[in-house]
Amino acid sequence: MQYDLVVIGAGIQGAGVAQAAAAAGHSVLVLEQTAIAAGTSSKSSKLIHGGLRYLESAQFGLVRESLQERALLLKLAPDLVKLKPLHIPVYHHSRRSPMTIRLGLSLYAALGGFGESNRFANLPRSQWHQLDGLQTQGLRAVFRYAEAQTDDAALTAAVLRSAQSLGAELLMPARFEGAELEPEGWRLVYEQGGRTRELSCRVLVNAAGPWATRVNQDIRPAQTLPAVELIQGSHLLLPPLLQHHFYLESPGDGRAVFLLPWRGQLLVGTTETPHSGAPEEARCLDTEKKYLLACLRHYFPHLPIEEDQVASFAGLRVLPKSPESAFSRSREVLLAVDNQTHPRLLTLMGGKLTTYRATAEKVLARLRASLPARERRARTSELPLV
Ligand SMILES: Cc1cc2nc3c(=O)[nH]c(=O)nc-3n(C[C@H](O)[C@H](O)[C@H](O)COP(=O)(O)OP(=O)(O)OC[C@H]3O[C@@H](n4cnc5c(N)ncnc54)[C@H](O)[C@@H]3O)c2cc1C
Repeated sequence: MQYDLVVIGAGIQGAGVAQAAAAAGHSVLVLEQTAIAAGTSSKSSKLIHGGLRYLESAQFGLVRESLQERALLLKLAPDLVKLKPLHIPVYHHSRRSPMTIRLGLSLYAALGGFGESNRFANLPRSQWHQLDGLQTQGLRAVFRYAEAQTDDAALTAAVLRSAQSLGAELLMPARFEGAELEPEGWRLVYEQGGRTRELSCRVLVNAAGPWATRVNQDIRPAQTLPAVELIQGSHLLLPPLLQHHFYLESPGDGRAVFLLPWRGQLLVGTTETPHSGAPEEARCLDTEKKYLLACLRHYFPHLPIEEDQVASFAGLRVLPKSPESAFSRSREVLLAVDNQTHPRLLTLMGGKLTTYRATAEKVLARLRASLPARERRARTSELPLV
């Protein structure tokens, strides 16, 4: 059988493309070498968010699209995506003043359409003592606004299940080994259970996340991909020391650090450390652990932190190569095609968990000219995720 589309990678992006393609009526196969969401898609900050801080780098389109997708996911996946109040404390030493935060939150609410989930408040001083022992010395204001939290791996699995319910197939564990373009389509080789197998498809989607450049080397003809860098982001998992969610400015460098109660633990992240090894070697470094604990202790000096109870995980962002700091680089997804009018190969890298559905629809739009006309089975904007 020849598939319309084969997707390499069952992270959130691969799952999203499989769902959108199956919904559009196409035959789809997903190849995953390890497990669903085994890569970056289980190592995120687990926020379905607009990305307040992207306003500083003027990524307004991304913020608007992310807030729209957040609103949709709150409806389609109410058991998996839940709104939580986030607190932003502002001190005399903070880089951003209360006025700046207020302006940012107002713009954020405007981009989100001024709905109830986009309201924010400046907490009265009388309530500050309820915030888990937050340092109040030098505190000028505490803002509260809403973001949504999820379980990234569970969300990815739900999207893939939705794709499968529309006819998509999953081979796992199955490792993509190579593909060659022939006149009638791709001849693709993969390894499963120690055996090498072949299949064919019209269009190939490389959604291998941090492995995408490696996968591209096994494709003939390989694609010219934009230059990218892998930037590690680590998180710590501590016992449930806080009740509230916080969005902080790291005292040394002003970067954003989240403190998020999550599934009975406290999630603290994240970092931005260039990674030059193999993607599977990403690990939280001692320096990253120190950096995150220093931030936690700075704002909550009385927390009883026992370092031997701190677990960690690390994920890899795929960001455009640039001399700019990782913090200010674009978080837009990178979509590259082998041919502008009739693409047979599309590689997608980076982007956000939050915008996986919008990304998948863009991918399908780019591939439309190379895919046969099929009868649509569903719309991803209407499919509940369970
Ligand atoms: C630290 C960090 C925090 C983040 N926080 C957030 C957040 O809070 N909110 C948000 O919206 N976004 C967040 N993101 C972004 C988001 O997590 C990623 O954009 C998303 O998970 C990327 O998914 P992916 O499918 O592209 O890659 P991956 O999840 O890495 O999936 C790639 C898959 O391809 C498979 N694969 C690789 N090679 C092969 C092969 N040869 N054969 C078969 N399979 C193969 C891998 O096993 C893997 O499962 C964060 C990212 C990082 C790094």
